[in-house]
Amino acid sequence: MSAAEPTRITIALAGNPNSGKTTIFNALTGNRQHVGNYPGVTVATKSGSARHDSVDLEIVDLPGTYSLTPYSADEVIARGFILAGKPDVVVDILDSANLERSLYLATQLLELGVPLVLVFNMSDVAEGRGLSINTEMLSKLLGVPIVRTVGHKGKGIDGILRAAVAVATDKRAAEGQRMPTYGSEVEPHLQELTEQVASKCPEVGHHRWFAVKLLEEDSETVTRLSSECSPADLEQLQKAAGRMRRHIRGVCGDSTEIILADRRYGFISGACTEAVTQSVETRHARSDMIDKVVTNRFLALPLFLLLTFGVFQLTFSVGNPLSDYLSKGKSLLAQQVTQQWPKGSDSLLRSLLVDGIIEGVGTVVEFVPLVFLLFGAIALLEDSGYMARAAFVTDRLMHKIGLHGKSFIPMLIGFGCTVPAILATRTLESRRDRLTTMLVLPLFSCAARLPIYLLILGAFFPTRTVLSIFGVINITNQALWLMLIYLIGIAVAVVAAKLLRKTLFRGDVTPFVMELPPYRVPTLRGALVHTWERTWMFLRRAGTLILAAVVILWALSTFPRLGADPSADARVRQAEEAFVQTVVDIGDAGGAGRTFEQFALAEAQLHDARQSHWPDSPRTLAAQHKYEQSVKRLRANSVAFDAFAGELDQWAAPDNPHGRPQPPNDSPQAEYLRAVALRDRTLADIENLRAQRGLQRSIIGRVGRAIAPLLKPCGFDWKVSVSLVGAIAAKEVFVGQMGVMYAMGREGDEHSRQKLQSSLKEAYTPLQGFCIMLFALLTMPCAATMVATLRESGALKWALLQIAGLTLIAWTLTTLAYQLGRALSLPGNV
Ligand code: GDP
Ligand code: MG
Repeated sequence: MSAAEPTRITIALAGNPNSGKTTIFNALTGNRQHVGNYPGVTVATKSGSARHDSVDLEIVDLPGTYSLTPYSADEVIARGFILAGKPDVVVDILDSANLERSLYLATQLLELGVPLVLVFNMSDVAEGRGLSINTEMLSKLLGVPIVRTVGHKGKGIDGILRAAVAVATDKRAAEGQRMPTYGSEVEPHLQELTEQVASKCPEVGHHRWFAVKLLEEDSETVTRLSSECSPADLEQLQKAAGRMRRHIRGVCGDSTEIILADRRYGFISGACTEAVTQSVETRHARSDMIDKVVTNRFLALPLFLLLTFGVFQLTFSVGNPLSDYLSKGKSLLAQQVTQQWPKGSDSLLRSLLVDGIIEGVGTVVEFVPLVFLLFGAIALLEDSGYMARAAFVTDRLMHKIGLHGKSFIPMLIGFGCTVPAILATRTLESRRDRLTTMLVLPLFSCAARLPIYLLILGAFFPTRTVLSIFGVINITNQALWLMLIYLIGIAVAVVAAKLLRKTLFRGDVTPFVMELPPYRVPTLRGALVHTWERTWMFLRRAGTLILAAVVILWALSTFPRLGADPSADARVRQAEEAFVQTVVDIGDAGGAGRTFEQFALAEAQLHDARQSHWPDSPRTLAAQHKYEQSVKRLRANSVAFDAFAGELDQWAAPDNPHGRPQPPNDSPQAEYLRAVALRDRTLADIENLRAQRGLQRSIIGRVGRAIAPLLKPCGFDWKVSVSLVGAIAAKEVFVGQMGVMYAMGREGDEHSRQKLQSSLKEAYTPLQGFCIMLFALLTMPCAATMVATLRESGALKWALLQIAGLTLIAWTLTTLAYQLGRALSLPGNV
């Protein structure tokens, strides 16, 4: 009864009780029946023979069972025969009128990996109940032939024989069969266990199935395995399975058997929702009721968009303040470290620590709240069962671009950060789908690009409310611009994906069953574990990469270093002397020039101390004390100075009110405060110019200038080019780089940001501003994404294709936009 020659084939008939198995067995074998024993057990077996195209067929009628779990003796026998007797093909008779229940056994047979034919019997009853079953689609989805029959009328019986012989003689029949996957929590465990089974007991075959059974703690399986592998190996396998069971229970809050059964029903439910037009199964009545709304033809998409919007709203409204908090922490730490050196020091170590490492780690950490919240929301939606529906709902849309619903979740994550999104493509089974998705993911604008958009929008498109709904929801023009940018990214991604599917990754969309697991209330613990695992992955991968990239970039923007600059030093001295002179002139007007000169020198010393030491450092405090002493002494000496200095420290500098009153405009005090402000501004300008010249001289500056001619058609000058090169480390670096390029300093505080925005407004047109946003959206991804693509695709060529492709797209579209905009001579305020 073991492996047959091509001319003799053993067929095992399986199926639920009352599915019409006996009827079909009789129709197949006629009177050529005989009664024997199942191998190994003394249970009566009925078998018979038949002929089809000169092939002799031995047909064994297995006991009717609902599943292959060994809950009953019948199930043990049926399973035992399939495992030990190794029939050439198993024919599963299903009751079409109770399709979902019947398919449960079928999924287990699929999992077992035996060559399989499905017979949809009772198709007349199904039809009578108004069920329309698309067997062709189901057959594609499951990867097995399906024969439709009406058993008691003998309809379709020939089809069974034909299909059975075809499958039995095709050595690779079982390879195309599909089976349920068990989700992101169980599947990795299962794959690990499968590998262990394969390496410890290669002889038993059905490795994945045995792994599933080990996870389900199926004792009969253990007995069967014990005959094939050593007790020590078996114990190891059981121990591993036990560990995984505990982990699954801890995370999912349910026993592994229930989780697995749910996924199988989800697999069936997904397949039936797609291929059967009226589902009558009521096992998950509540889920089905929810699904009536959630996957409703008209409600599905709006509901889905609403939820997505909610996720982003939550992520950004809660995450942004947290990010700001961390950002402040970063500045504080940077300040603490900087204080270890005298102010203005050009120590390389300080620069590496502060501008390189703290900046790099800080950038990553700042993103953690956003990433954590986004992953948390996604984990909740996934665990509740909604994500599977979202994939289902978007499936039809995604088919249009040659992908399917499963690509959707990575894309959603991509709006947060592309790196974890690329990792999330692992759920895609087909490599073609996975690569396509991965390559276009950077086009889904990640959170790091937001600061660039906000800088540009603030400079060129001042906030204006364009639509107010009851005065509650105000839609601003900036929000619309942002939406336009995001939509452009999505549109380009769609076109690019479609192109990739038509060229490099040609081929049909692989059919697969989209699991629709029942809805469940997600457990907090499960959601937290999932969220944490992904966030940690982001931190570990992106963290180390971004850090490395930022440090490399720091080096590239620092070396070669600017040497001493006598002319700048001279200008510093000049500004300081001019200040003293102004103060002396003020004093001369009141006949107290000498005293005022001494005062100016005391102030200059204090200023100097403040420049080279930190606000609360002992040296600053000492200088402060000394200054106050001098003022006291000078006031005692000179009546004119006493009158001048009386209310000086209650008055505010011209552009720095701090809530204090301004002195009368033509008073000596006002003149003095203006002189202080002028000196401070001049010194800051000299410092910023130094930084600007440093960046220009650096490698990045040189590269940026070298490629500037290439970017000219896009409307960019060399300053933008240099900043764009810098943004390769991480997108948001662009803003800081522009700050340095415009000699505003790197610091991103509100004041210097506004100054930068007004400089941008002077230097560029709104069209150029838009082009900067467009280019930043489309161009090559950040260094971390490049490395993620390289690792996950497993080949350098895909990473290079992504870099080159996106850069080309960015250049072409931006050039198009710029030249078109100029040709149409869009008005200055687009
Ligand atoms: P088994 O328990 O799976 O062996 O089922 P049987 O072969 O004993 O069939 C149960 C009942 O279903 C019998 O009365 C059959 O005549 C009837 N039956 C079998 N196939 C069909 C079918 O395709 N359509 C209808 N309407 N009845 C069927
Ligand atoms: Mg029977």
